[in-house]
Amino acid sequence: MSKLIPVAALAVFLAVPASAQPPAAAAAPVTAIRAGRLLDPEAGRILTNQIIVVEGNRIRDVGPNVAIPPGAQVIDLSRMTVMPGLVDSHNHLALTYKPEPENNVYYYTYVQDSTALRAIQAASNGMQMLAAGFTVVRDLGNNGNYADTALRQAIEQGWLPGPTIINSGIIIGGMGGQFFPPPEMAKEHSIVYPEYLDADTPDEIVKAVRQNILFGAKVIKICVDCKPYGYTADEIRLFVREAAKAGMKVAGHVQTPAGAKNAIDGGIWSIEHGGALNDDLHKQMAAKGIWRAGTETPTGLQGHPVSQEAYARTVAGLKNAHENKVLSVFSTDADYYVFGKTRGELCLEFLKPWKDAGIPTADILRAMTINGYRIADIDKTRGPIKPGYFADLIALPGNPLDDVDALRNVQFVMKDGLVFKRDGVMTPAPFFHGGPVNGWRIR
Ligand SMILES: [Zn+2]
Repeated sequence: MSKLIPVAALAVFLAVPASAQPPAAAAAPVTAIRAGRLLDPEAGRILTNQIIVVEGNRIRDVGPNVAIPPGAQVIDLSRMTVMPGLVDSHNHLALTYKPEPENNVYYYTYVQDSTALRAIQAASNGMQMLAAGFTVVRDLGNNGNYADTALRQAIEQGWLPGPTIINSGIIIGGMGGQFFPPPEMAKEHSIVYPEYLDADTPDEIVKAVRQNILFGAKVIKICVDCKPYGYTADEIRLFVREAAKAGMKVAGHVQTPAGAKNAIDGGIWSIEHGGALNDDLHKQMAAKGIWRAGTETPTGLQGHPVSQEAYARTVAGLKNAHENKVLSVFSTDADYYVFGKTRGELCLEFLKPWKDAGIPTADILRAMTINGYRIADIDKTRGPIKPGYFADLIALPGNPLDDVDALRNVQFVMKDGLVFKRDGVMTPAPFFHGGPVNGWRIR
């Protein structure tokens, strides 16, 4: 390179890295947001003309008469509804099966796509989720060899933008997990593995939980009844005890009523998928405060047909859960590509079953926000727009309490105090760094 650098180029070069300086070197920037309407999902109401002051990555103050600090950057959202970020409580960011070449059979995706490629897909999917307004994603396995951990670390260390990730690492199940692999595959664990961690005995259960914790899981995901023998309530209790030593909860994939009963009796934190749940099981879940992540698939997704009968059962299950006051969250199980839609737009299609179940918009919004923060076990620090919480918020022109489909038009996204999307355009530059600016020790 020439030693003569044009002055203009040098000025640009020097001006750019301001956001890349170590956090300690710069005073935390202060931003004031003028919110025309502020949605409080907990109360199910709208407050008007509020000021939100953000300092660094946290909310400092909120209210109608809050003074805008001198020198603060002012963001005018006075024509918008500002609200806390959305949560998808069940997604698979490092899995995208497709019509081509695998004909939407995800077993073949595992053969085709390396973990490295899937981690990069996950980084893209994470940004697509954030752009649609999802600031938190529970990422529940089928993510190759811990691509989910890599994504979480990259976001937390400051390499790139993305939602807050609550990841499970590798799903733990009886040998073969959700698959029925041939012996060569199951025993040698070479291809189409490590999508599942085998744990058939108490020792293996303890070891599998510890492996996932070591490799960066934030929640433990198990296959309760993917095999004819499944896990007993006692075995589930062992999972719950072992996970609790590291402060973690256990999420269970459930596909049979008997499996659901064992999961409930074993004291599981959440049941993933609602298909096996009935009125009696819902009552037991409500009584014990067990979360329901029903993953209700809508009709009409191109390439993913759902029969009218299956959809009617899905909607009836959601309605029954609501009537029984089961703790419920918005969850999609999104792990595929629908042409023309981002991962985030795809997830918002899952509003349909909630509307068809006749669930009031205020309750849908709670499921997508405060219940999401609670099932993710982050509600003490992240979610509500209140002083002291991390500054995650979104804005949209309509009023989602009147029409929940207003959520499909998120124009503004702030994550950790940084603006990711403004006026409908992604502006993620402040998130990108050439190093782990938030600290390499974040594991
Ligand atoms: Zn899933």
